[in-house]
Amino acid sequence: MKRIALFGSTGSIGTQALEVVRTHPDLFSVEILTAQSNADLLIAQALEFDPNVVVIGDETRYAEVKAALSSTNVKVFAGEAAIEEAAAMDCYDMMLAAIVGFAGLRPTLKAIENGKTIALANKETLVIAGEIVVKKSLENKAAILPVDSEHSAIFQCVVGESRNKVTRIILTASGGPFRGKKPNFLVNVKRDHALQHPNWNMGAKITIDSATLMNKGLEMIEAKWLFNLRSDQIEVIVHPQSIIHSMVEFEDGSIKAQMGLPDMRLPIQYALAYPQRIGNAFPRTDFRKIEKLEFEEPDTRTFRNLYLAREAMEKGGNLPCILNAANEIAVWAFLKNRIGFLDMMAVVEKALEQVKFIEHPTLDDYFESDAEARDFAASLIKL
Ligand code: NDP
Repeated sequence: MKRIALFGSTGSIGTQALEVVRTHPDLFSVEILTAQSNADLLIAQALEFDPNVVVIGDETRYAEVKAALSSTNVKVFAGEAAIEEAAAMDCYDMMLAAIVGFAGLRPTLKAIENGKTIALANKETLVIAGEIVVKKSLENKAAILPVDSEHSAIFQCVVGESRNKVTRIILTASGGPFRGKKPNFLVNVKRDHALQHPNWNMGAKITIDSATLMNKGLEMIEAKWLFNLRSDQIEVIVHPQSIIHSMVEFEDGSIKAQMGLPDMRLPIQYALAYPQRIGNAFPRTDFRKIEKLEFEEPDTRTFRNLYLAREAMEKGGNLPCILNAANEIAVWAFLKNRIGFLDMMAVVEKALEQVKFIEHPTLDDYFESDAEARDFAASLIKL
């Protein structure tokens, strides 16, 4: 029985992880659930899964959660610090890191420092401070198992290949809802249109990141740290059908691909059950129904975020952290209809140019760079 702590249990990844747990009560128990403000869903989850602890980030919702769970043995806490403290608790073995954005970094680091296994959905953790996170995970023997479908695909391709050299990985990208579109179209794109992803049903932030190709940029950086790769070993190819989730090329030129229907429950389940594969009733791939598998070069002139992320990855230092922070502010402003679609990429580019570059950042430097980049992006947007 694996004891799971679900950080970000009310989100898209969190709720799908609970679907996996629900069908395998013999394999998993839920020990911790955390949410930011969705008290209703957190309460319903706690009543169903009977965890040790729940934490609600928004302290104004504490009384409501506490009252609703008063007849149970569930311990209730509130606030940002309480989320981090929960990550240090003894009552669980594996953290599913499914908080969105920078907010996921501190609890994940805390879990790593306590030697927990991490099923990592929160890619921002590795984008912001990859070098430190990986170093700490090695020091504390805290394995990091990818949940992101592309990284799960790569991981599944390299399992059993530890003696063999990887020459290249090929990250596939669906291209998002605006594949093939040019700036004259994108300038008029509104929030609701950008939130319609053709293949995946995800939280708002990652859906916008997919539309701007920032998601693929963040994933390149995530892959660099997860699989210890040089930047020039990481290739991105647009594959609109999202059947091949990513590929690995070995020294002999052989390429392995991991395939399946686009369904996040599969990579979530793979990480939770690793090293075992377990059964499920998810829909199966029928190749007769897939007319074609297409591949094309990403348009980095239009979707500049992918180009900017590669630049940040290659130059390193605190640039990926700046990229991420400016992007979080830009996406937030776009979701509030405060800026246009193309403005998001302009904000990120300016932040990369203007916020102070640090070649060898400490953890504190990362926190400061994050704050500085957020302030800078907010001042550009006039928030
Ligand atoms: P959602 O927005 O759907 O969910 C985010 C979760 O984090 C919710 O539980 C939310 O609580 C909580 N949360 C939000 N802000 C804070 C905060 N400041 N402090 C603590 N908790 C917070 O996101 P997704 O599930 O889509 O994504 C989660 C992570 O997984 C992201 O990093 C994303 O990039 C990654 N990922 C997601 C995929 C997907 O298919 N969705 C695929 C691959 C990776 P509340 O509900 O109360 O707001």
